[in-house]
Amino acid sequence: MKNILKSRVGRVLFIILFCVSFFRHHCTAAGDTNADVYKKMSIEELAVKAYELEQVSSPEAREYVDVFFQLAEKYLKANRKDAAMETLNKGLRLKSWDYRHQIMLAELELEKKQYQSARDRINFVKNSCDDETLRSKAEQLFFKTELKNIESKTKPRPELLDHKLYIVRFDGVDPAIVKAIASKIGQEFNIKVQVIDRVLKPDKTEIKHNRAKILGEMTRGIKDKMVPAEYKKMLKEAGLAGLEANTDVEKEKLLKWVILKYKDGRNYWSEVEKSMEDQYNSNVLIEQLERQCSKELRGNKVLGVLGVMVYDIYADGINFVFGRAGEGSGVMSYSRFFDDFTPNHVTMKRAVVQSLSSTGMILGLERCTTPTCARAYPHSLEEHDRKEDKLCNSCIEVLRVNYETRKN
Ligand SMILES: [Zn+2]
Repeated sequence: MKNILKSRVGRVLFIILFCVSFFRHHCTAAGDTNADVYKKMSIEELAVKAYELEQVSSPEAREYVDVFFQLAEKYLKANRKDAAMETLNKGLRLKSWDYRHQIMLAELELEKKQYQSARDRINFVKNSCDDETLRSKAEQLFFKTELKNIESKTKPRPELLDHKLYIVRFDGVDPAIVKAIASKIGQEFNIKVQVIDRVLKPDKTEIKHNRAKILGEMTRGIKDKMVPAEYKKMLKEAGLAGLEANTDVEKEKLLKWVILKYKDGRNYWSEVEKSMEDQYNSNVLIEQLERQCSKELRGNKVLGVLGVMVYDIYADGINFVFGRAGEGSGVMSYSRFFDDFTPNHVTMKRAVVQSLSSTGMILGLERCTTPTCARAYPHSLEEHDRKEDKLCNSCIEVLRVNYETRKN
């Protein structure tokens, strides 16, 4: 009996996984991501594609990141090293955990005597890459160039302490998280941070109600793939007395029962729950921030405002985002950073990392290519967790330039 149940549950879970992955990915760009296709293209053709990619958002562009990497390799073959470096940077901004291209960029940086940045990349590959060949390549570079002898730059951290960033809470946000975010942004960016003493009600225009839709699709997926007798039996085992899953409550009971039978069921169920939450349009929230904090934003030497949400947010064409920001204003959400079992310090760290990334966008900085930097682009929560809650050396140098411009 147990085995029958197991295989049935296995089949059902497969369907559910399919449904959820459909829900989570059907909005992202589809198409050919095969590097071999790009290999056959000319520099000119790839350059056009790369230009097009620069016009779309990061999650969409990430699907086609090989365009940048293939173009960079072709530039390198043609001995156009500056173009290769620029293009590698563009690719790594989207996919910083690409060890092979990190090494490629590090070698070019060494030629240009950009030791600091090269050292960060080489150390990253040396310490975290599983591929033996790439790791030993990183070790060779490390010793060959005596990177270990290069001291960290002794220049003081750039500061812009007469400039201010505002932070504002939306409904339901934990004040302790906002406090942690505010202090870390102040420390890492060396700017003044002030938490606005009001709580905003998130604008519900263009809110997405996903619950009924997801429950309906997923339970239908199960029912359609099962023999009726099996399905009835399953409902009985799941404790559905009426032997039907018609209401949302019944559908949820059935799904939860099926998913929790699985080894990694708890994590998976929490993902499903997050997908079912109401989602707010990030662009609408940014407009709301600009409207409702206009008095603060009009002040002298104001860098912008960051809104913090606990509810899930999305962007046009993207199922969900951790944060969304442009120069001067942005919104972030820590909705996907916790479930009932996440220790508080983990949620806190994840939120802090995101806030540093959002602040960089508010200041108008380009994405960072150092994978462990808080400002690197994460493709998943797992990649987000690999980032540190601080800015890397290259970000600090970028800040130096940005602050000089603002001072003048
Ligand atoms: Zn960085």
